[in-house]
Amino acid sequence: LPVVAIVGRPNVGKSALVNRILGRREAVVEDTPGVTRDRVSYRAEWNSRFFTLVDTGGWEPDAKGIDASVAAQAEVAIDLCDLVLFVVDGNVGATSTDEQVVKLLRRSGKPTYLVANKVDDVRQEPNIAELWSLGLDEPHPVSALHGRGVADLLDMIMKQLPEVSAVAKEEVGGPRRVAILGRPNVGKSSLLNKAAGEERVVVNELSGTTRDPVDEQVEIAGKFWRFVDTAGIRRRVHLQQGADFYASLRTSAALEKAEVAVVMIDVSQPISEQDVRIIDLVLESGRALVLAFNKWDLLDDERRRYLEREIELDLAHVSWAPRVNISARTGRHMEKLVPALELALESWDTRLPTGKFNAFLAELAQSHPHPLRGGKQPRILFGTQASSRPPTFVLFTTGFLDPGYRRYIQRRLREIYGFEGTPIQVNMRVRE
Ligand code: GDP
Repeated sequence: LPVVAIVGRPNVGKSALVNRILGRREAVVEDTPGVTRDRVSYRAEWNSRFFTLVDTGGWEPDAKGIDASVAAQAEVAIDLCDLVLFVVDGNVGATSTDEQVVKLLRRSGKPTYLVANKVDDVRQEPNIAELWSLGLDEPHPVSALHGRGVADLLDMIMKQLPEVSAVAKEEVGGPRRVAILGRPNVGKSSLLNKAAGEERVVVNELSGTTRDPVDEQVEIAGKFWRFVDTAGIRRRVHLQQGADFYASLRTSAALEKAEVAVVMIDVSQPISEQDVRIIDLVLESGRALVLAFNKWDLLDDERRRYLEREIELDLAHVSWAPRVNISARTGRHMEKLVPALELALESWDTRLPTGKFNAFLAELAQSHPHPLRGGKQPRILFGTQASSRPPTFVLFTTGFLDPGYRRYIQRRLREIYGFEGTPIQVNMRVRE
């Protein structure tokens, strides 16, 4: 999907605008400055067209480093989007921080709309004339709170928005696209350097911009792979605040572009909530998944016992993901990474023929029928695989299937067909 980013100083009403665009009624999610929210991108719709809305409002810098943090925030968002809504406070006018952001926006060459928020009343409109001084074309007055002007703004940006994101352009038949994910210091750059060696080719998708190269194409054992968003991995951003926000945004953006994710986990440390959250983002995105347990060289016997227990406890829900135990430093088992990626992608691409799938369902109905509910038994009439990448199945049934039974179907599908490394989805259409 095309990506629209909302950037601007704290308190100009970015979150209110996000809520307005998403059609949410509730007020701003968090009023406390500096509070980070996990979720930074949303699926939005306007006039039956979908786009991804990136909200930088969850990351409010503190007063001290305000220019630097706003700039860093804007830079990340700009990197990842097709179009920018730059929000200023229509009652305050342009500040020096705003001017800094404008410099970044210019450099990026991304289409930008200047949005003057908090213009609740038509009588305030003349005040925004001074915003022309920012050199960004016409300011668009809106009131995110009351909705004033927002529809016009959206109509306008939809005209400029590409059908498909230029940032996350999918190439059919090109090298497979891999995202390397993980919390800071798990060894992402180290893995990339080891995998890429001297052979990397830098790919700059955003021609005509002066941004860092985005992806790297690497030949491994005679085959090309494309590591997406390596600029995000290599470019070190040192931020006290906003680090979580930055990481979530990077993760979401990389997933958007990737087909398969390698989630790296540092075995020298306990598996953390953040590790699990990153894995959940992968599941949500429907991408294939490989788990790379890194820093294996640091593992002693005691830590190893704990690790296995943590994996059982925290990662049981992704026990289907291929697992490689590597050391990006020493190169241990690095050669196992590519076969794991290939396995996961093959599963992700799988299409079960309808006949085969229905034979599977018939066998299931025999050996393990759905439990009776209120004297009735929901039956599966027919099933088909609606799509791959990831494999998504639809069941036509005579009643709702219990969640437990749906999980059982998934488990059986995995037992019989493998599907190692890919999430699978089982949906229902109930026919009364
Ligand atoms: P990133 O933040 O995920 O990109 O992590 P880096 O690749 O920068 O690695 C963070 C630190 O961990 C660096 O000091 C690396 O040298 C170190 N490191 C990375 N992989 C390994 C490994 O397999 N074993 C050990 N012992 N250290 C590693």
